[in-house]
Amino acid sequence: GALKDDDGVRGRVRVAVRLRPRNAEEQVADADFADCVELQPELKRLKLRKNNWDSDTYEFDEVLTEFASQKRVYEVVARPVVESVLDGYNGTVMAYGQTGTGKTYTLGRLGEEDTSARGIMVRSMEDILSDISPNTDSVSVSYLQLYMETIQDLLDPSNDNISIVEDPKTGDVSLPGATVVDVRGQQGFLELLRVGEAHRYAANTKMNTESSRSHAILMVNVRRSVAEGDSASNENDDHMVRNFKPVVRKGKLVVVDLAGSERVNKSGSEGYMLEEAKSINLSLSALGKCINALAENSAHVPFRDSKLTRLLRDSLGGTARTSLIVTIGPSPRHRGETTSTILFGQRAM
Ligand code: ADP
Ligand code: MG
Repeated sequence: GALKDDDGVRGRVRVAVRLRPRNAEEQVADADFADCVELQPELKRLKLRKNNWDSDTYEFDEVLTEFASQKRVYEVVARPVVESVLDGYNGTVMAYGQTGTGKTYTLGRLGEEDTSARGIMVRSMEDILSDISPNTDSVSVSYLQLYMETIQDLLDPSNDNISIVEDPKTGDVSLPGATVVDVRGQQGFLELLRVGEAHRYAANTKMNTESSRSHAILMVNVRRSVAEGDSASNENDDHMVRNFKPVVRKGKLVVVDLAGSERVNKSGSEGYMLEEAKSINLSLSALGKCINALAENSAHVPFRDSKLTRLLRDSLGGTARTSLIVTIGPSPRHRGETTSTILFGQRAM
């Protein structure tokens, strides 16, 4: 129901960390070196090695090891947000981390051959579709890329400069120019994700950039018709039937596969590359500032500072539920980037 549940998780960002396994190259090249982190999932702790003797310890809401299944990751990171969206709230699930640490693996895997590999987007839709009533409710999606402060429509490549509109009264954020597609079933949704991915690849090839340099954003709108104050057992009650007053309950789920958080060497880049790096720094640091402000219960959350945060304005904080998953790799070579990812996650809590 709409009024239950204030278990202290709304308004605050839940933060999980996920370690990916060593890849083939790291298994060989770093064979003589220990991982840069050691996880204690039952204590929800992560130890970051400083040297052979010393390490710093950090606590997270969830600590997911390289053995954590996609199913478990979905359950701890995204399911509470999806349930809240089904109850008529907004919510955000986002992945932050260095390129190559598993953001897209975590959020975007389709798992067509092996359903156990499915990521958060596909599993969320599965739960949404199984919960709604096809006759009275609807689910629609938009799929976007945010690159250099420009929003592009991944479902219609000709639509390459979408603007954000905020309703001054309700604070609702909408993208009037974006393609919105009704989702009837999981196959149709998988097809949309495939189409979006293909357009993303084509657009980035044309712009001569990597997909890791942009944010991919899936927006899922759930619209349900519910009887006010209804409960299933009252359906045969004459009195209740006469007083049946359907109300529309709307929830929005935003899933964000953030641009790679690695620091681009500004001194080494120039021209377009430098502008690209600045733009990523701008949006990720604006996001960091907003979630830090939420974590500190600050009265002012600087949503206006970037397109990314303007887009998330109605889905971060307030009554919205937010999960952040920070992804890291085990390699001691990336200790610096791993450290800054862990600190980004810590500041959000
Ligand atoms: P990112 O989106 O952060 O750049 P990817 O999701 O593309 O990273 O992952 C990089 C590589 O690591 C891919 O080959 C992916 O399949 C692999 N990988 C990532 N996370 C895991 C994991 N938890 N288990 C197994 N392989 C993973
Ligand atoms: Mg990726």
